[in-house]
Amino acid sequence: MKAAVLHEVNKPLVIEDVSVPNPGPREVLIRTKVAGLCHSDLHFMEGLYPHPLPAVLGHESAGVVEKVGSDVTYVKPGDHVVTCLSVFCGTCDNCTTGRTVLCTDTTVKMLPGQSNRLSWGRKEKLNQFLNLSSFAEQMLVHENAIVKIRKDMPLELAALIGCGVITGYGAVVNTAKVTAGESVVVIGCGGVGMAAINGAEIAGAGRIIAVDTNPAKLQLATKLGATDIVDPRNGDVVQQVRDLTGGGVHHSFEVLGRKETAEQAFAMLAPGGTATIVGMIPFGQKIELHGFDFLRERKIQGSSMGSNHFRVDMPRLIEFYMRGKLHLEDWISAKLKLSEINEGFANMKAGKTVRSVIMFDA
Ligand code: NAD
Ligand code: ZN
Repeated sequence: MKAAVLHEVNKPLVIEDVSVPNPGPREVLIRTKVAGLCHSDLHFMEGLYPHPLPAVLGHESAGVVEKVGSDVTYVKPGDHVVTCLSVFCGTCDNCTTGRTVLCTDTTVKMLPGQSNRLSWGRKEKLNQFLNLSSFAEQMLVHENAIVKIRKDMPLELAALIGCGVITGYGAVVNTAKVTAGESVVVIGCGGVGMAAINGAEIAGAGRIIAVDTNPAKLQLATKLGATDIVDPRNGDVVQQVRDLTGGGVHHSFEVLGRKETAEQAFAMLAPGGTATIVGMIPFGQKIELHGFDFLRERKIQGSSMGSNHFRVDMPRLIEFYMRGKLHLEDWISAKLKLSEINEGFANMKAGKTVRSVIMFDA
């Protein structure tokens, strides 16, 4: 089968012939139908985050089950599934207390370089990425890295839920627990930020302020639920948000992954407000906060994959889509072949796209 391999950072992905072994007892072999391009992949391609290379990237996907291991009862061949990198064991302390995204069992949630699920007829090891590696025609994954979905859900929309949508929506609903009427700011309205805006609308937030440097993104944000828009090119973002809200917001979400915007997210909070950092700030970089702000009970927290319980959350998101509340069609800016993947990442880097998806049957 074909897969897009990252050999070296800051070099294009190369399409290679790759194979996967038969599923082990708790593994599932999936025919990949759609894979979304997420900025997290790009962070690794640019070396802002370390990963053993060569590797097959990709972590936002949907497909059809081809084969299951001897102990798998959850799915059968033909089932439609969405993948999630938040693979969980179900028995560690974090899983049993409901925080499955923080699963600590490394025999299930394997560390980078640990799994042996890809081979390519060379001596050098080919690494699986985040226990998934979606930029490949087939994926071999643990059964707890997938959720079964209804078959009338279009797979290209389902794939988006696998990372971008669950991350943005979950940051608002699960991590920050935004309640009706509260004010929300989302800094960075790409695939993940748009899901935070749409999630805030579903949660019944009051003011929803979208911040982005791209006017086309701000326009789409308005369609998805933003009540106000802020363009950083029109002046200090923190001051613009303070002016709009009469002093600051209840919840801010940084969905970009930069020091400056993370600091802005904290600085724009009203007393008692909470900043949630979703963006991946380059590995090793520190952020600076004004210590006094903690005296007025301002808080800052991280969010991993929207603190999801994906076996519950993803089918619910599909129901929201079916009821017209989650506008997934608006996310897709381009449908690409696997061979066009580098073009997709170039467009992401230029800030042109919300989401590009690889259609494996195209
Ligand atoms: P993206 O590239 O699609 O979107 C980024 C957006 O930021 C673009 O719309 C761009 O126009 C905008 N932007 C650029 N400069 C800006 C500025 N100064 N102020 C405001 N907006 C600006 O990215 P994405 O795929 O949506 O991912 C966003 C971030 O979320 C990335 O850092 C990604 O790694 C991270 N992420 C985190 C998790 C998690 O579990 N925490 C999961 C997925 C993605
Ligand atoms: Zn992602």
